[in-house]
Amino acid sequence: MPETVRGPVAELGVTLMHEHVFGLSPEILWNWPDIPEGWDLEARAGQAAAKLEALRAAGVDTIVDLTVVGLGRYVPAVRRVAERTGVNIVAATGLYTYDALPPYFANRGPGTLFGGPDRLSEFFVRDLTEGIGGTGVKAAILKCASDHLGMTAGCARVFRAVAEAHLETGAPISTHSHSPSRGGLEQQRLLASLGVDLGRVVIGHAGDSTDLAYLEELIAGGSYLGMDRFGIDTISPFEDRVATVAALCARGHAGRLVLGHDSYCFNDRFDEDVVRRRHPNYHLLHISRDVLPELRGRGVTEDQIHQMLVDNPRRIFG
Ligand SMILES: [Zn+2]
Repeated sequence: MPETVRGPVAELGVTLMHEHVFGLSPEILWNWPDIPEGWDLEARAGQAAAKLEALRAAGVDTIVDLTVVGLGRYVPAVRRVAERTGVNIVAATGLYTYDALPPYFANRGPGTLFGGPDRLSEFFVRDLTEGIGGTGVKAAILKCASDHLGMTAGCARVFRAVAEAHLETGAPISTHSHSPSRGGLEQQRLLASLGVDLGRVVIGHAGDSTDLAYLEELIAGGSYLGMDRFGIDTISPFEDRVATVAALCARGHAGRLVLGHDSYCFNDRFDEDVVRRRHPNYHLLHISRDVLPELRGRGVTEDQIHQMLVDNPRRIFG
């Protein structure tokens, strides 16, 4: 049974595979607690729970919260949200960087200034098997990232640690990839070389691409594709995102697609008003309200939608 913030559940149901509850900047909040985006756990948890309850009313049962270290993961706050909503929240472990590792990891481990064992995979395994930060909340998925810089030494070290933790625990892997440079292929090559079954891997942000040849190459490798930034229209507009999903469904790939917005209930790195003006569709209800009706209008069947929202997430966590 898949782990969630409230504990294991029998069924994940309708699942958005890439969202975030909170993105926080702890060192900023420690030192400038009076920033306008200031952090009040109870108030922010209440607002987040209300957003998730609206999502539940729209028919979504589960979100996968891919917030890991580097994005401001703070599980005690997410647990407070989970206590106040019926939506299941799946927690993740891993590390988010496009290049260097945080100094805590960069200065230790094999080949570093101070040497010694690499703690990355040890910490990831602990999050998956014992729980995160003393909360008892277990992560159920691993996250790693590479972007426009490609597979830097720091990114590769995270990928290796994620692969080790995956092989030890069986937890699936979800990536942040850079579609313009076809970065998912490099991620697949590295993970496969480390012994990872690419059928347990979601290549995230694949939906930023409209290059069907690239996307089918990723699918041929065996991975799932994250069509997971619906609403971030400045990277790729609504029309392109839905047309790409519809085309991949028409070519028989609904069994390899998962959906999401990559949205945040609260992120102190965004000015909410500016985001709302620039990206009016960047919110948790966009898929339910706008994307699914548009896909149906383009010939995507109920069965294919069920595969993307229910069957594929179940298999990924299976
Ligand atoms: Zn994300």
